[in-house]
Amino acid sequence: MERPFEDFGCMVFDEREMGDRLPRPVYDSWKKTVANEGTLDRPTADAIAHAMKRWAMEKGATHFTHWFQPMTGGTAEKHDSFIEPGANGEPIARFSGKMLIKGEPDASSFPSGGLRATFEARGYTYWDVTSPVFIRDRVLCIPTVFVSYNGEALDRKEPLIKSIAALSQAATRVVNLLGDKDVRSCNISVGLEQEYFLIDRGYFNKRLDLKLCGRTLFGCAAPKRQELDDHYFGSIPARVSAFMKEVNEELWKLGIYAKTEHNEVAPCQFELAPVFSSGNVAVDQNQLTMDILRKTAEKHGLACLLHEKPFEGINGSGKHDNYSIVTDNGQNLFSPGEKPSENIRFLVFVCAFIKAVDTYPVLLRLSASSTGNDHRLGANEAPPAIISIYLGSYIEDVLYSLYRGHESQPGSTAAKQDFSPVSTLSYIPHDNTDRNRTSPLAFTGNKFEFRMLGASMSASFPNTVLNAIMAESLNEIGDQLEGLKYLQDVREKAVDICRNIIHDHKRVLFSGDGYSSEWVKEAERRGLPNVPSFIEAVDELTSEESVNLFTSLNIYSEKELYANRTILEERYSHIMGIEVRTMMELVRKEILPAMSAEYGFYSSILQSAGKKAPAFITGRAAEIGKMIDAVSESLQELGSVWAEIQTISDSFRAGKEIYYRINPLMKKLRADIDAYEDIASREYYKIPLYEDMLFNL
Ligand code: ADP
Ligand code: MG
Repeated sequence: MERPFEDFGCMVFDEREMGDRLPRPVYDSWKKTVANEGTLDRPTADAIAHAMKRWAMEKGATHFTHWFQPMTGGTAEKHDSFIEPGANGEPIARFSGKMLIKGEPDASSFPSGGLRATFEARGYTYWDVTSPVFIRDRVLCIPTVFVSYNGEALDRKEPLIKSIAALSQAATRVVNLLGDKDVRSCNISVGLEQEYFLIDRGYFNKRLDLKLCGRTLFGCAAPKRQELDDHYFGSIPARVSAFMKEVNEELWKLGIYAKTEHNEVAPCQFELAPVFSSGNVAVDQNQLTMDILRKTAEKHGLACLLHEKPFEGINGSGKHDNYSIVTDNGQNLFSPGEKPSENIRFLVFVCAFIKAVDTYPVLLRLSASSTGNDHRLGANEAPPAIISIYLGSYIEDVLYSLYRGHESQPGSTAAKQDFSPVSTLSYIPHDNTDRNRTSPLAFTGNKFEFRMLGASMSASFPNTVLNAIMAESLNEIGDQLEGLKYLQDVREKAVDICRNIIHDHKRVLFSGDGYSSEWVKEAERRGLPNVPSFIEAVDELTSEESVNLFTSLNIYSEKELYANRTILEERYSHIMGIEVRTMMELVRKEILPAMSAEYGFYSSILQSAGKKAPAFITGRAAEIGKMIDAVSESLQELGSVWAEIQTISDSFRAGKEIYYRINPLMKKLRADIDAYEDIASREYYKIPLYEDMLFNL
C-alpha cells in the first residue's frame, strides 16, 4: 500500500530537502539568513541555486520565475527557462546564485502610485528566504519581494516582513521583561479560512458580469434561498467532491496542510481551511490556494467565485484570519496557560491587543476592506463595519475582576477564585472557545479571529496592520515595565498596566449581536467609528496617526503610504468603472433587446386579437412597455452621472462621488432589470437566473 500523503510537500524545496542536498556550511549559512542573523554570500547563493536547479529539473521543471505580489492583490510571474547555449552550441541548464537572489522583471505596468517615474521605472525582485521555493506547472517559483529602483516597496510582502520584525522585537522584549529570558524572537501564526462559491462553468460563461466583475450585477433571488440551511455542512455533491480531492492533492504537494472542507450556509458556497503556519508563509500559501481553486474549478467544468458578494440576498464570502503570536521556543502568547506567571503574560498580551484595536479601528477596517467587500460588510452573515472585540464571557470576567481591583462580579465564574493581583490569575480553563459569529474580532481559545477580510483579498495588509498596532502597543507596555528590579514588581506593574488599559479601552469590547441595529446605536454612543465605505476608510492610511505608526516602526515610509493610498483609490475607480460599463453593455446588448422582443410578442397578439385579447395580454404588454422605459431611463442616468464623475481628477473625491452617487443608480437600474426578470419568459430572457446557477451542481 502507498504511504499515506506520500506526495506531501514533494513540490517544495523545503528545509528537509535543503538539509539533504546542501553541504552543511551552506545549509547553516542559509539557516542564519532565515533567522535574520546574516546575509548570503555569493558562493553560498551559487551552491543553493545549483542544488535547487538539480532538484527542480528532476521534478520536470524547465523554467524558473520570481513569484511576487504586486499591489493588485494577486500574484505575478515572468518565466525564464534554465536553457542556454553551451560552449559548443549544445543546450545547457544554468541557474546562478545571482538569478536566484535578484530579478529585474521590469514589470513597469503594475500600479506604483507614482513611486516609479518613467525614467527609473524598473522594479526589482529579491528572494524572500523565509518562504519556501516551490514548483508549479514545470516552473520553479521563487517567492520574492518587489521593490522600486529606490528601494520603495511595490508589493505587500516587503511591509509584511518588516512588520513581523517589528512585532518580534516588541513581543520579545515584553516576554523577556516578564521573566522569560530564553525567548530570542517571536513570529506570528496565521490560519486563513477561505470561503468560495462554485457554479457550473456553462452558466458562468453566459454571464458577462460574472466574467468581468466576478459578481452578478442583477438577478432576482431564486424561489429558494438559504432559509432551510440544508446546504450547510450537508453532504458534498459528487462533482464538488472530485474537485476538492484534486484541490487537496495539489495543495498537499505544495506543502500546504489543507485540512477542513465543508459546505457553507449559502447554496453552492464552500470553505477550505488549512492548518496555520507562520504569517508570511500563510499569506503566500493563501495566494496559491486561491489560484489553485480557480484553475482546478476550470478543469472540472466549474467556475470558482472568490468575490465577496457574488449573489445578492444570500451570504457573501469572507476570509477568516486566525492570528496568534508565538515565541521561537514554541509558546503561544495568546494561550492562557495554566501557571499564574503565564496567565499574567497572557493578560498583558490580550490587553495589548485590546488597546491596539481600540486605538486603530479605522486602519483595521481599511485593511480588511475592498470594493467587493463593501457589499458584504454589514450584510447577510458578515461582521459589520464597526470594529469591536468579543472575548468570551470567561476572559471578560477575569479582565473585569482584575479591573475592579480584585472583587469579581457576583455570580460570575471568576468569582469562585481567589483574587490578589498575582495569584488571582491562577487558572483559566482551555475551553474558552465559546463563539460569537457576529463579531469582527473574536478571541477563540488561543488566537484572535479577524473575520472582516473579504474572500478575494490578499491577507498581507491585514496582518501587517495587526503586527504594527500590536508592536506599538507592546512597545508602550515594554517602556513602562523597563527598569524595575524585581520580578514581583514587574508583575504588579503589569497588572496595573492591564487595569489602565481595560479602563481606557473597554468600550471596544462587545459580546452582543453585532448584526443588530441596536449595536449600531450603542457603538455610536460609545464613540466607536463606523466608516460606511471602503473608499472613505482609505483616508486613514495617510492620517497623522497611521503615518507615525508605520514610519516609527520602519514598516512604510510616508511616501509609500501616499503611493498606496493613490493605488487603492485608483483601483476603486477602475473596478467601479468596469462594473458600470459591464452593466450598461448588458442592458444595451442583451436586456433591452430581450424586453423589446417580449413586448413585441404580446403586442402582436394584441394587434391580431384586438378587443378580444385576454386581459393578461393587454396587461403584460403595458407592463413590459413601462419597464422598458424605466430601464432605459435608469441606464441613461447612470451613463451621464458616470461621465460627469470622470471629469474629477482628485481620485479620493472621485471615489466618494462614485460611492454616494453611482452605487444608488446601479441599485436602481438593478431593481428595474430585476422587476422584468421576475416576469420574463425564458423564451426571450436567456441570461442564466439565480435558480439556474445556484441549484445545479
Ligand atoms: P472555525 O471555522 O471554527 O473558525 P476552522 O477549523 O475552520 O475553525 O479554522 C480554524 C483556523 O484557525 C485553522 O486555519 C487553524 O489552523 C487556525 N488556528 C488554530 N490555532 C491557531 C493558532 N494558535 N494561531 C493561528 N491560527 C490558528
Ligand atoms: Mg473561523
